[in-house]
Amino acid sequence: MSSSPWPAGPRQAPSSDSPEAALTAGVIDSHCHLEFPDFAADTEETVARARRAGVSAMVTIGTYLSRTAPVLALGERFTDVWCTVGVHPHNAEGELAGLSVTRLAELGQHPKVVGLGETGLDYFYEHSARDAQQESFRRHIRASLETGLPLIVHTRDADDDTLRLLEEERAGAPLSGIFHCFSGNDRLAEAALGLGFHLSISGIITFKKADALRQTVARVPVDRLLVETDSPYLAPIPHRGRRNEPAYVVHTAVALAGLLGMAPAALAAATSANFRRLFRRAESGNEAGIETGSGTEAGTGTGKAQTS
Ligand SMILES: [Zn+2]
Ligand SMILES: [Zn+2]
Repeated sequence: MSSSPWPAGPRQAPSSDSPEAALTAGVIDSHCHLEFPDFAADTEETVARARRAGVSAMVTIGTYLSRTAPVLALGERFTDVWCTVGVHPHNAEGELAGLSVTRLAELGQHPKVVGLGETGLDYFYEHSARDAQQESFRRHIRASLETGLPLIVHTRDADDDTLRLLEEERAGAPLSGIFHCFSGNDRLAEAALGLGFHLSISGIITFKKADALRQTVARVPVDRLLVETDSPYLAPIPHRGRRNEPAYVVHTAVALAGLLGMAPAALAAATSANFRRLFRRAESGNEAGIETGSGTEAGTGTGKAQTS
């Protein structure tokens, strides 16, 4: 830990707080897919269960521009559900014709839309041709630069191209956003932080075989971390193998707190503060009144020193 290339983030003393402590602080699921058919039969109950578990907000993530309406409808229906609009790399080929920077910017004006994506590159599944994925990603980056809306980045087996496209398109301008469901190595984490991004941690962090990921995540400054479910996928232990849902983000938050030696309540508060700082449109939402000032100035320059 002495040779970590990253600035030390704030750390709280370990505590024996029970998982329920995280619930009272309120935790935010930064990435879920509530409009997927998996939730069609029990959307209302799913949101209610999340609230009861202590989830104070959820972001339901767009994957097709042509199917944006049901995503926005969820944001309109539930005060604590926010949205993003964009094209998942899996769907890039089929959606490219209808995808423009202008269209993304227009959809981004909706009052419940807090970010653009999920976009990025997935060379593991490669459901869309790589050149289509890259072109789609470039358009999202341009729209993010134009609107100031944070980017939700999905990257799998495509570290180099993901970083290269971000660097090329931003051309030195500041970007903001999330590397969602972060499961990369130290190098990707460092590069993403250097670009100004946050890392969102999923239920993978609870999996037995995720030691390498845990080691990487343990070095990330707390003021750059978020938590998510990626529901309906990737349910954390003890729900692994079943449908995931936003309520289960609590298990991921508790696991992350344990990894960082923080009380669950402190981790929940820190990641929620990060969320509100990053997604400014959500800041004025249902969580009004929690103005902490939070001493984040210390972390303002985080990562920038690593930019070469
Ligand atoms: Zn994804
Ligand atoms: Zn997703």
